[in-house]
Amino acid sequence: MEKLLELLVCEGCGRSYQQSQGGVLRCSQCGKAVPMQENIPIFTDIPDDIHPSDKETRGPDIGTPWRQANWQFLTDWLESQNPDILILDIGAGRGDFAEALTGRNCIALDIYPYPEVDIVCDLTKANPFRPASVDAALMLNVLEHIYDTHAMLETLAKILKPGGRLLLAIPFMVKMHQPPLDFVRYTHFALQQIGQEYGLEIEQLEGFYDPMFFLGEGIRNIQWPILRKMRGWRQHIGRLLLAGIRFFAYLMQPVIGSGHIKSPIEAISLAPTGYQVVYRKKV
Ligand SMILES: [Zn+2]
Repeated sequence: MEKLLELLVCEGCGRSYQQSQGGVLRCSQCGKAVPMQENIPIFTDIPDDIHPSDKETRGPDIGTPWRQANWQFLTDWLESQNPDILILDIGAGRGDFAEALTGRNCIALDIYPYPEVDIVCDLTKANPFRPASVDAALMLNVLEHIYDTHAMLETLAKILKPGGRLLLAIPFMVKMHQPPLDFVRYTHFALQQIGQEYGLEIEQLEGFYDPMFFLGEGIRNIQWPILRKMRGWRQHIGRLLLAGIRFFAYLMQPVIGSGHIKSPIEAISLAPTGYQVVYRKKV
């Protein structure tokens, strides 16, 4: 909590908060109070349409190739950094990447008070952080769930130190997930331009291409909305053909491999599963 308190300032008067009696944080100047739940300060209202996620085991070799690539992307980057840097994990949830961040100086933020988070705040609605106080912000599979990307990046540009980094993993050809909080898919052209608006320059950008995953998403689209509505002999033939496609996909998997990273510039017309980006805040 002390580490967190050093980072926070009252949005009204710019002074620091103190933990006070009655389980609240209180501004030392104007007296503004921030409620706490289980020792987690709550800066913005918890949305009532959220479906809290269950805790899942995560790791470098668990989940889809995209998830595994995200893990690699994060750990590779962390290895290249000073171990003491202050990291803000935005949309940390149940700690999907917590293990990769073990031993790091990290603050976990979310819009929902999961037991794994340090602070609850929707950064598009409030910014309790001291300006230029954070070395790196992480948004790993999070930005697509934020309605107002511009407000988010504007806040991040304030929070990050000059030369600070924002690490983004953002899906592109991935089905809608966590409804209704799934809002955007950006091309890498948009990711570049939108960052520029807030002084965030792209330092690293890679598209992650996983043709078998792409095929899987297509198969699901056939299976649910189309095949389910078919009747009689059409449905039988449809099922048979789909089983055929699945079988070919099964045969293809070892030949093609489980996804690969390629420069989006080299493969402009392909359909990436997602992008992984490192932005650098201008000095
Ligand atoms: Zn104040």
